[in-house]
Amino acid sequence: MKTAVYPGSFDPLTNGHLNIITRASAIFDHVIVAIGTNPSKKSLFSVSERMDLIKESTDHLTNVSVASYSGLTAEFVKAQHTNIVVRGTRDSRDFVYEQEIANLNGLLDEQIETILLFANRDYELISSSMVKEINSFGGDVHKFVPAPVARALQGRRDHA
Ligand code: ADP
Repeated sequence: MKTAVYPGSFDPLTNGHLNIITRASAIFDHVIVAIGTNPSKKSLFSVSERMDLIKESTDHLTNVSVASYSGLTAEFVKAQHTNIVVRGTRDSRDFVYEQEIANLNGLLDEQIETILLFANRDYELISSSMVKEINSFGGDVHKFVPAPVARALQGRRDHA
C-alpha cells in the first residue's frame, strides 16, 4: 500500500490544494494531508479549524485523511511508515522553493522521495494569501476555495 503525505500550511485550503489532493488520491492508495504547525508563523485559522475545513472539503475522497504535526516533515513522514511527499508547483518560483525543500528533506532522510504535481492551469494563480487578501477587502472568494472554506472566510470577515 502506497501512502503519500501532502504537507503544507493550508491557511486556508484552496481549490488549488484540493486539485492536488484529488489527483494524488487517484495515484496513491492513501493520502495524508498534513498541516505543519509553525508557532512563529501568523495564521488566520487555527490548526483545528484548518483540519476541520480540509476534512469537510475532502469528505467525498475516501482514501484521504487529515493530520497535523510539529517539527520536521521528514520525521512525520517516517512516522506514517512511508517515504513519499507530494507537493504542488505553480510557477518557476514555486519550483525553486520546492526543489530546496525536497533536497533538504533528502538530506535529513535519504529515503524520502518528493513527487511534484504541476498546478492545474485553472488554479495556478490561486494561493491562500491571495484568497485572504481578497476576502479582507470584501471580495468574493467562492471561485477560489471549497464551499466550507468560503463560509468560514465570510464569518471571519464579519467578525474582523
Ligand atoms: P507551504 O506554507 O508549506 O508552502 P501551502 O499551504 O502554501 O504551504 O502550500 C502547500 C503546497 O501546495 C505547496 O507545495 C504549494 O506549492 C502547493 N500549492 C499551493 N497553491 C497551489 C495551487 N493553486 N495549485 C497547486 N499547488 C498549490
